Amino acid sequence: MEKIIMKTALVEMDGDEMTRILWQMIKDELLSPFIDLKTEYYDLGLKNRNETDDQVTIDSARATEKYGVAVKCATITPNAARMDEYDLKKMWKSPNGTIRSILNGTVFRTPIIVRGIEPCVRNWKKPITIARHAYGDIYSNSEMRIEGASKAELLVTDQYGNESRSLIHDFDEKGGVIQGIHNCTPSIESFARSCFNYSLDQKKDLWFGAKDTISKTYDHLFKDIFNDIYEKEYKEKFKEAGIEYFYSLIDDIVARVMKSKGGMIWACKNYDGDVMSDMISSAFGSLAMMTSVLVSPSGVYEYEAAHGTVQRHYYKHLNGEETSTNSVATIFAWTGALRKRGELDNIPELVKFANKLEQSTIQTIESGKMTKDLANITSYEEIVTLSSLDFIKAVRKTLESYI
Ligand code: NAP
Ligand code: MG
Repeated sequence: MEKIIMKTALVEMDGDEMTRILWQMIKDELLSPFIDLKTEYYDLGLKNRNETDDQVTIDSARATEKYGVAVKCATITPNAARMDEYDLKKMWKSPNGTIRSILNGTVFRTPIIVRGIEPCVRNWKKPITIARHAYGDIYSNSEMRIEGASKAELLVTDQYGNESRSLIHDFDEKGGVIQGIHNCTPSIESFARSCFNYSLDQKKDLWFGAKDTISKTYDHLFKDIFNDIYEKEYKEKFKEAGIEYFYSLIDDIVARVMKSKGGMIWACKNYDGDVMSDMISSAFGSLAMMTSVLVSPSGVYEYEAAHGTVQRHYYKHLNGEETSTNSVATIFAWTGALRKRGELDNIPELVKFANKLEQSTIQTIESGKMTKDLANITSYEEIVTLSSLDFIKAVRKTLESYI
């Protein structure tokens, strides 16, 4: 078979620990034999981030803006323990945070559904995608403990020195607590556009919930911005695509999601997304089966797995022990990026290959061959638990039977 030729490169961001090992296996077994891979390679492994003073992360994000598509391996976000382990010059920031702020994007997380790993919610038949607005609200708040009788007010001083005030609460001697939160109009607008774009890209309905009846200014602004942008820029396109935008109160949305068949993209404010994404991923089975894509409002895509570098397995691997780490979300990060590249460059064979590789991965699991994390939760009785590499080889066998 001739290898598929790519026209434009995609940005490849390598990473750390066990996922870096899986990364190479996936390339060797599932990609390079079939595609003449064209990537612009950035090594985001912690060692190289440290050596380049984290410039490599910034460069990789800029390259993503240029090429429009990236695939990223999980990376270590340094903490105190990593400072010693890697002898770091500095406690470098989370690469995902750096990339997200350069691309100004929104993260969409979607579970991969296979037979044999049933969601806890019986009626969920299709994946539910969570889009989390990753800016502001309580995550960049200002809080104060109020001791004793005090009057707390919001005070805003504009650029000309004019002051506006609004009473928060008149505390009695027993005191209490207050917090100030904010969000910025451009950030909410970018969030809305990323959601509408991804919804069109995926041909899935978009649901958004907030608490505008109670928060008549703050949450109401979110509702209004989504609505205005939808009416002006997306209504026609949604109609053509046969999909819907649906706004409701957040509690109503939660109730409807629980009763639904799934299949929608659920846009969440920052806190709601933090909480609901964990609920969705655990309800669908396993963090190792969760994909993640960062979408910028201008339509740039960066694909990755939602899980981390699986440190515990890596230490076993270093000890020479066999691992059974799930590579599915990382495989799907690659297929997501390759499919997008194929669509942008009009290479139908590349799109087809990405689809086949996804089907082969799912079929391999559905035939009873899986890694340990899935073996522990499957409803199948006859299964074979495979090592990290043997699972990838089993996927290759399924794939080759297709091609
Ligand atoms: P983790 O790597 O997601 O792993 C936590 C645990 O979840 C693992 O020990 C394993 O459980 C299970 N697990 C996760 N992915 C799995 C997979 N593919 N196959 C099988 N089991 C899997 O989270 P962490 O251990 O908290 O973090 C490790 C490093 O990853 C940290 O340095 C963190 O900064 C980084 N991180 C990076 C990203 C990213 O780049 N997007 C995201 C999150 C965390 P068992 O041990 O029980 O088998
Ligand atoms: Mg959370």
